[in-house]
Order: sequence, then C-alpha cells, then structure tokens
Amino acid sequence: MDKKFRVHIEFDQCKACGRCIIACPRKILALGKKLNRQSYPAAYQAKDGCIGCGACFYQCPEPGAVTVYEIVEA
Ligand code: SF4
Ligand code: SF4
Repeated sequence: MDKKFRVHIEFDQCKACGRCIIACPRKILALGKKLNRQSYPAAYQAKDGCIGCGACFYQCPEPGAVTVYEIVEA
C-alpha cells in the first residue's frame, strides 16, 4: 500500500511567509484566516495528498514550525 503523509504546522511558530505554500508540489498548503500569537495567518494543510517530499520543511525559515509525519495505520 502507498505510504500516506501529513504535515503539521505549529500555529504560533509560523510567520506566514508563504514559502512552504509555493514550494509544495501538490499545492495543498494554504494560509489560514485566524491570526496566531504573533499576528500572522499561519499556514496549514488545507487538502489531503501530501507525498512527504519535505519541501515545506526545508523551505521554512522558522525552526520547529513544520513537521512531516508518515501516517501509519495499525
Ligand atoms: S511534504 Fe511535500 S507534499 Fe507534503 S505538504 Fe510538504 S511540500 Fe507538500
Ligand atoms: S514556510 Fe514556515 S513560516 Fe513560512 S508560511 Fe510556511 S510554515 Fe509559515
């Protein structure tokens, strides 16, 4: 079975620079509508289809903002 992945973006760590959104080959990331603690509309995974490429992680200038998970089904 194909591997499945998911991205978590830590809400209060994101500065909404948009690099991850541009870098994502599946175009599944977006900026949210709520402002975080730093008054940025943090990015989030808006659609399924993450392939776990890590481009969002490598582009993000904020250490600790982006984590890519493999979803393991029991
Ligand atoms: S790991 Fe790749 S496919 Fe998944 S959200 Fe990040 S850039 Fe997009
Ligand atoms: S690259 Fe990092 S700081 Fe920039 S929008 Fe994406 S998660 Fe937020």
